[in-house]
Amino acid sequence: MAGKSPEEEHPIKAYGYAALDQSGHLTPFKFSRRATRDIDVRFKVLFCGICHTDLHFIKNDWGFSQYPIVPGHEMVGEVTEVGKSVTKVKVGDKVGVGCLVGSCRSCDSCAEDLENYCPKQVLSYASPDFDGTVTYGGYSNEMVCDEHFIIKFPENMPLDGGAPLLCAGVTVYSPMKYYDIAKPGNHIGINGLGGLGHVAVKFAKALGAKVTVISTSDRKKDEALNHLGADAFLVSRNPEDMQAAVGTLDGILDCVSAKHALLPLIGLLKTHGKLITVGAPAEPLELVLSPLNMGRKMIGGSYIGGIAQTQEMIDLAAKHNITADIELVAMDQVNTAMERLAKGDVRYRFVIDVANTLKAP
Ligand code: NAP
Ligand code: ZN
Ligand code: ZN
Repeated sequence: MAGKSPEEEHPIKAYGYAALDQSGHLTPFKFSRRATRDIDVRFKVLFCGICHTDLHFIKNDWGFSQYPIVPGHEMVGEVTEVGKSVTKVKVGDKVGVGCLVGSCRSCDSCAEDLENYCPKQVLSYASPDFDGTVTYGGYSNEMVCDEHFIIKFPENMPLDGGAPLLCAGVTVYSPMKYYDIAKPGNHIGINGLGGLGHVAVKFAKALGAKVTVISTSDRKKDEALNHLGADAFLVSRNPEDMQAAVGTLDGILDCVSAKHALLPLIGLLKTHGKLITVGAPAEPLELVLSPLNMGRKMIGGSYIGGIAQTQEMIDLAAKHNITADIELVAMDQVNTAMERLAKGDVRYRFVIDVANTLKAP
């Protein structure tokens, strides 16, 4: 007799919102999750942030999306069940899951707590899981996850404003540490004041750097300077602004989601300056090499962060009262939120109030 199909091994009935094709339109969707294994934590999803990556995925911007997709990799919830070997958390604890729900746990990257660079990593959604099923993310009522990938939520961290840190937070924190750009005595630029960019300003300030925000217009200037704590503001589409700041920055964290010019950013760097990219525009960007060579400058990339560093980031955020500035939206408003995100009309992260607004289909 044939064994159970992977789907039959998934007895936990779940529901959420899914994109069914590259129109990206999200619609109520029923699915199931695996039974809680000994090493698993099951939780009720309370809030889930909307990352621009969710938008890239549902719209198939990168050309490899497979549908249906239940997005969401900034999810926070309350533990409802733990497997018998789980030690990290107990029923009732508040927990988070970011972009990763699996990795091989034996490669060089995994051995260094860099599960994010594991070639066999399993993403929280739209990713083949080890049991042959495809993962579904946090735009859903409940979640089951290997405890290794569970982040413990600090007591004083608001659940809604804290949720976006699980992706946006660690994505900007990790390169600040690795490339050693955000520290006292350094002046860094944050390019693109969106979900990632605005938490980047907060972390860079907490780590002691002087911060200049680089933005496409002056619409966010007042908030950047007077609310987010930036020291200076440059409009990237204003050549005079940019010219006046040439050669002033030790590093730039580029958080822009669409194609943009790199040359003016390289020009802002001092000799030995570092341009670090985390944005993932669908189109290739142009790079002229001599401005890099002439100043011994470098360009580097970075991708989310490992689990230990995600915990470190969120504990540091709790200590410094860092949260995302959010607009809380109901689940059935998610398509409007996506349309607004595509236009850059969000201050600065949409978070879905999952527990209060997601209705059973
Ligand atoms: P977001 O909230 O939409 O912010 C993107 C910002 O980019 C906008 O607020 C805007 O800033 C700027 N921008 C947009 N279009 C632009 C253009 N044509 N030229 C110049 N600037 C433009 O997005 P997000 O959630 O922060 O994500 C940003 C990017 O990072 C996305 O591509 C996402 O997929 C990627 N990402 C990467 C990782 C990683 O691990 N590397 C993790 C998460 C997300 P201003 O309004 O200030 O101009
Ligand atoms: Zn993300
Ligand atoms: Zn690995």
